[in-house]
Amino acid sequence: MSRGDRLLRAAGLFLALGMAGLAAPPQAPFPADHRAMRRTVSYDAMLAFLDGVAKPGFITVTEEARSAQGRKVLLVRLNRGGAKARFRVLYYAQQHGDEVAGKDALLTLIRDIAAKPELLPGDVDLYLMPMLNPDGAEAHRRFNGAGADLNRDHLLLAQPETRALHRVARRVRPHLAVDSHEFGRDSEDYAKHGWEAWPVITMDGCNHPLIPGYLKVAALEAVTAAAPLQQKAGHAYRRYLVGGPPPDDELRPSTPEVDDGRNGMGTLGALSFIIEAGVRHRSADPSADLGERVDGYRILYRHLLGDRAWRDRILKLAERARREPLPPFIATNTFWANLDGKVSAVKVRELGTGRTLEVPTAMAMSDLVVKGAVPTPRAYAIEPSAAARFLPVLEAQGLRFETLAAPRRAKVERVKLLRIEEPYDDLYQRYKDRQIVERQPRTDLDLPAGTLIVPLDQDLARRAIQVLEPCLLYGLYGYPGFRELAKPGADLPVSRLF
Ligand SMILES: [Zn+2]
Repeated sequence: MSRGDRLLRAAGLFLALGMAGLAAPPQAPFPADHRAMRRTVSYDAMLAFLDGVAKPGFITVTEEARSAQGRKVLLVRLNRGGAKARFRVLYYAQQHGDEVAGKDALLTLIRDIAAKPELLPGDVDLYLMPMLNPDGAEAHRRFNGAGADLNRDHLLLAQPETRALHRVARRVRPHLAVDSHEFGRDSEDYAKHGWEAWPVITMDGCNHPLIPGYLKVAALEAVTAAAPLQQKAGHAYRRYLVGGPPPDDELRPSTPEVDDGRNGMGTLGALSFIIEAGVRHRSADPSADLGERVDGYRILYRHLLGDRAWRDRILKLAERARREPLPPFIATNTFWANLDGKVSAVKVRELGTGRTLEVPTAMAMSDLVVKGAVPTPRAYAIEPSAAARFLPVLEAQGLRFETLAAPRRAKVERVKLLRIEEPYDDLYQRYKDRQIVERQPRTDLDLPAGTLIVPLDQDLARRAIQVLEPCLLYGLYGYPGFRELAKPGADLPVSRLF
């Protein structure tokens, strides 16, 4: 090597270092253009990438929990405005280990912001949990390392991954939260018709009756406003619906239940969403269109961050929702219906021709109907014999409670269990274990020492209702460990206090 060559090489090295010091994108386990992604990022590759991208005061990575198999559940915080970043956002993904695109989209977003910080608005405090279920991700399966479905664990919070998510959510109190999933486009039901589900990317807002209406309206507004953006990018997009093919099968927005992340975060006072991308599970290479799903995800993540006016508005609405007094009645029985038998056109994709068909149906349900309600109590009382079973749940949910040291007189409404119904709806596994109950007359009683009292004059009152209200049609008593506490013909261990 000549002296000149050595000089040139040194200059080249210097140049390379200088560029890295400026704004070169960090080494990433995916292509520069995320639309070219063909392989999901593994747990190990994610760890190495986040390690390389972390930057004190801008991008911080913290371990929030360990999974059953000892893997880390990580939180990535991106903030370049310090305390001025008032709009707090929590995006979380891969509760179901085999649903990958949300995680991949979040990692590409981190890469882009690391390379070009101005992509992150100065008023946004962005919290990301890209891989909530690392054991499931490694095994490419829905369940976590303990065999639990994390997105059915938001009431009990029995799993370390969901407990970590809720700890983070209570610490951060996000104004905006998004859960990230994938569904199968090519189910047998659709294939029988020679179709597949049309959308590649879908989104829905929180819908639980305890969430103030103005939050739900703002969420649906954002779902609708995303349509032209997805259309421009060439992605088939609609509001997320569950159910089978039209015109005979029921289609409805995602569940109003609260054992999932979207309504769980919604009742903490966040504008809360679920995104679901569509996967062709039966195709030779289900990853062939991963880049398109990731792009669809990124469009929604960016869209929801909105502009300054949108963020200011959502911040105010979310803060207001947190102060909103409880309603005088609690909806205990709700279902999706099609009021007036409206006919709507549902798009499907014809496999033989690749054409999009519009199939008319009156089975698309769009109205949430309240069929039963009970007066809102002042507090709940958990009888001493069930206290040990309930304590871990109250603690994991961060609920305030008191243990009676001595008997206390109270106006008590006990609730008798008539029966727990067998599964009757195989469309969605959550729709089983309905609790059929009968409220008893209110009486003045001495609650014994050891009773746990959970008052509803607390910050997390809506969470307390969702976890404890014994009159809910879908409550705790379908779960193992609680089913044993519920004896047909006997009172449930939780009473309503007035
Ligand atoms: Zn899922």
